[in-house]
Amino acid sequence: MLVTRFAPSPTGRLHLGHAHSALVGWTRARRSGGRFLLRIEDIDQTRCRPAFEADLIDDLRRLGVDWDGPIRRQSEHMTDYRAALDQLSDRGLIYPCFCTRKDVAAEIARAGGAPHGPDGPLYPGICRRLGADERQRRIAGGAAFALRLDVEKAVAQAGALTWVDHRRGRQSAEPEILGDVVLARKECPTSYHLSVTVDDALQGVTLVTRGEDLFFASHLHRLLQALLGLDVPEWDHHPLLTNAAGERLSKRDGAVSLRSLFDAGLSVEQVRSMAGF
Ligand code: GLU
Repeated sequence: MLVTRFAPSPTGRLHLGHAHSALVGWTRARRSGGRFLLRIEDIDQTRCRPAFEADLIDDLRRLGVDWDGPIRRQSEHMTDYRAALDQLSDRGLIYPCFCTRKDVAAEIARAGGAPHGPDGPLYPGICRRLGADERQRRIAGGAAFALRLDVEKAVAQAGALTWVDHRRGRQSAEPEILGDVVLARKECPTSYHLSVTVDDALQGVTLVTRGEDLFFASHLHRLLQALLGLDVPEWDHHPLLTNAAGERLSKRDGAVSLRSLFDAGLSVEQVRSMAGF
């Protein structure tokens, strides 16, 4: 049975891009007699607000999108992410990173640049090269640290991997393009990459539906699945809705919220049609 999901972060109001994404997954699930899940990705407690969560649930209901089973809230499942980190740590695949953004920028400038990935320059490996004693000394001294994946070592352990995107076909996994990503942040004991991968597996998701802006992240998620012994779903990275200027809609740039469209008196059909349905 197909199981897919919509996984918004309650950091602002939902806009038409979110409606599009939710409707892509929901339509697919409902047409095939599958399950559609709602997950609240609220690990970043500095940016997430309960009021946004309540609003997004309300907006989805007004849009006619329903979901199966209880809502999973990531902030309530930190022990699941901790267990995954422990597994990676036991395999020697993560290391503490004490760097600030400034340290990283200074090292990149010193080295005359760094390879670029889809999200910008890759982490130049400063803390990967620290010895065990130095790591212990800094941790004992109370220094804040993130946990990074040693991606080269991880790829060597996992071997060659492939994954399937419903629009672009079979892919050879290339997680190295993201470098040594952060799996647990200094201020939060997990990260988007870790929690999304663990949750999709724990919730039995068979098709990850999300925007194509996250296409490259899936290379890394495929690697994490292999390392953690998780079931492997397929992916549907859909094109993003854009505004009249061809730019992707985003909360940050003040894209019109679903709420304001409903409040302005637009019908469900009109809003769905603006969202491409
Ligand atoms: N929480 C992510 C977002 O709101 C989506 C994650 C995903 O669908 O994998 O952008």
